[in-house]
Amino acid sequence: MNPEEILAQVAREVAVCTRCPLHHSRKKAVPGEGPASAEIMFIGEAPGFYENEQGRPFVGAAGQFLDELLQRAGLKREEVWIGNVIKCRPPGNRDPLPEELEACNEYLERQIAAINPKIIVTLGRFSMAKFLPGAKISAIHGQMRRVGNRFVIAMYHPAAALHQASLKATVIEDFTRLPQLLQQARAELMRLTLPPSPAPTPDEHEEPKQLSLF
Ligand code: SF4
Repeated sequence: MNPEEILAQVAREVAVCTRCPLHHSRKKAVPGEGPASAEIMFIGEAPGFYENEQGRPFVGAAGQFLDELLQRAGLKREEVWIGNVIKCRPPGNRDPLPEELEACNEYLERQIAAINPKIIVTLGRFSMAKFLPGAKISAIHGQMRRVGNRFVIAMYHPAAALHQASLKATVIEDFTRLPQLLQQARAELMRLTLPPSPAPTPDEHEEPKQLSLF
């Protein structure tokens, strides 16, 4: 199967999934959406009220704010992938339980493997904990970290910024830096895939350049 077919297959499985009790209360599962060629995946926590109604990610107030943030970053919604670590709405928007996160994890893993993004932007603490366990969002938000063969940037969840005015400016600032970080990620990944250059002769030797990712 090609990446598009894998994403479509995952979406079909998610729509009828009964792996955890959240399927009892869902109206529509929310597999996530975006092209298989996306360079960036935005991964939030779980569907809320409007997402459960429509089967689409980030369509409520937090989604409108995310659209605004993407615009500030010079990104179009249709060129990035947007989804969640949990595909069905927890009742009353409660936090997902560890067993629900575990049951749902395989779907996201398959989506990430199919898309193979350069950058994963985590939105909120459950998504951050998956890729950067033990990290504190207040300490690392907006910073780019290498995780395996890609980069991860932890951001505050847009909903948190809507409920806490002091976070809004921080989130906007972090998103505004995304284009610059994407360029750094592209350059670094390109460098990592190039064959090693021949050893320099003594005349050619120069101090190695440091690429700051943070
Ligand atoms: Fe299946 Fe995930 Fe929905 Fe649970 S949350 S029923 S594991 S798709």
